[in-house]
Amino acid sequence: MSEYRTTAREFLAAMATEKRITLLMEIRAYPEVWGAIAMRVMRWRFRRRAQRRAFMNATVVCAGCGWTFPPSYLHRLMGMVGPGTMLIGAVPGGEEFARTKRCTRCESEQCLLVYERLGPRDITEQDVDILEEFWRAEARAWWAGREKDTAICDVCNVRVPRDEGGVVGAGRMLNCESCMSRTMDEALYRLREDPYYYGPTELSKARAFKETLTESDASEAMSGRFGDSGEDALLIVDGLADTMNGPSGEDGEPAGIVGRFRRLFGRGA
Ligand SMILES: [Zn+2]
Ligand SMILES: [Zn+2]
Repeated sequence: MSEYRTTAREFLAAMATEKRITLLMEIRAYPEVWGAIAMRVMRWRFRRRAQRRAFMNATVVCAGCGWTFPPSYLHRLMGMVGPGTMLIGAVPGGEEFARTKRCTRCESEQCLLVYERLGPRDITEQDVDILEEFWRAEARAWWAGREKDTAICDVCNVRVPRDEGGVVGAGRMLNCESCMSRTMDEALYRLREDPYYYGPTELSKARAFKETLTESDASEAMSGRFGDSGEDALLIVDGLADTMNGPSGEDGEPAGIVGRFRRLFGRGA
């Protein structure tokens, strides 16, 4: 763990001032890096609740393709779930991910730990509209894979006709139209009280969904997702410095991971 002591200290120091921190590392380093930071964050106990909470809800994204790794993948990588253990409802590929330490979609060996401390003032009414749109789209996708023409509302047990309602939150609760409007009426309050109320990544997923609808370029969507204000702290795990300095591409943008970063975060060359 001592190998990542500096990284952990820098990360903690950044947490004091930055709302968004992105940490690039090799996937195989993740358990140790995460552990080194978590150990120190746990010591805060009742202090710095917002920071602690944001760290525990940080997401891990593939540095190659931008895919957010499912929690089950990370649990396997951390050795919290042994090989050969079946996880009900988990996204397939977790065992392979833990074994190869590579993204199962693009084979990248690097990932980004994305920490985002959302405060009440970061939540707007527009976020509520975006969430509703996202949850309704989730419902339509869910209906599309279903043969029956009705389903039961997970909240009030009434019948929901095909293509109606929304699939709400990380718990994926099917809401009928009337439950949906109640959910949306209280959403702004809930989110201002607790930005992670609907699940650790629900809001960022919904924001990314909206960006993808409005921007045809996927990389643009990513930059909207992780912020374009240039205020993101970028921490780099020791030993990755060489891969950060690839040759420049034809368009003047550095190739490889640095170029990707600049696009992700809107940083100038
Ligand atoms: Zn990938
Ligand atoms: Zn209902």
